[in-house]
Amino acid sequence: MSAAWTVQRIPITSLASGALVSLALHELRGRRGDGPTLGLSAGIHGDEAVSVEILFRIRKLLSAGDLRGRVVMLPCANPLSYAAITRNTPLDMTNLNRVFPGDPHGGFTEQLADKITTRFLNQIDALVDLHAGGAYPTVDYVYIVNDERLSRAFGSAWLYRPHEPYPGTASGITRARNVPSMVVELGGGDVDQSEYVERGVHGILNVMRTMEMLTQIPAAPPPQTVLTEIATLRPHVGGLLIPEVTALGVEVGPATVLGRVYHPQTFEELEAIPAPYRRNVTILLHRTADVVEPGSYGYMIGNLDTAEGFAHEGQESTRQMR
Ligand SMILES: [Zn+2]
Repeated sequence: MSAAWTVQRIPITSLASGALVSLALHELRGRRGDGPTLGLSAGIHGDEAVSVEILFRIRKLLSAGDLRGRVVMLPCANPLSYAAITRNTPLDMTNLNRVFPGDPHGGFTEQLADKITTRFLNQIDALVDLHAGGAYPTVDYVYIVNDERLSRAFGSAWLYRPHEPYPGTASGITRARNVPSMVVELGGGDVDQSEYVERGVHGILNVMRTMEMLTQIPAAPPPQTVLTEIATLRPHVGGLLIPEVTALGVEVGPATVLGRVYHPQTFEELEAIPAPYRRNVTILLHRTADVVEPGSYGYMIGNLDTAEGFAHEGQESTRQMR
């Protein structure tokens, strides 16, 4: 299976324990001729294991005989945070996706970012960077970074074009080189991930068809809405978050309570979290009751009044995810 894939181990550094940290980079050279080098990355945040599984499936599916160009895959970009199931690297509490291009003379996470920049991000002609909601929340949207057609080809119903990109991201490095880049936010949470794995695999294959790296005709995307404004709602208190809205990609009215935080011992209600806009769509939420700390990711809510391409009054106003 998966003949013709090669794996290269890139050493990063050794730790106080003596353990050597390295990154595996997988490569598949197509036999259908020259073409672009597509970079696929997952696990930049260690608590987003569904993204690692999507690349596991992609590796099994792709073979050199079907491929034009080259695929380079970085399936587990931060092994220390993956092992700890944390967003930040536990060694230095640093968010890898805020320190690119990194620093070869810096701390662990900065050295890691430097190696990913020089050995992966600077070697590719297009980037699909996979993310998820984390250990507890579940998420569903695709960022438009610099190539709207490619972002749409992934096939998610909800896209987001931020006014200001975050500094220090992996996609910021490729964007600065005018490399078509997209960031996928899909899945996560303490729920069955099979739907998200399947959609992730289909999304990547459809992006590759759109880039003519695979021969099949790309599938047309579903009706899509581009959000330009998303509010991130974080509980001010810790405790047990009990959700009241659990469906992603649905419209909710003004001030609808999305969930409430309760004291885990006394069961006292500490906080209600209301929807912020007149017309809201759920982009990230908790599908189950979860432990939260003050400042945890609670909800990401899109503003439908400033969205592009949304079905307006009198039309079907909620979209069911595939
Ligand atoms: Zn992430």
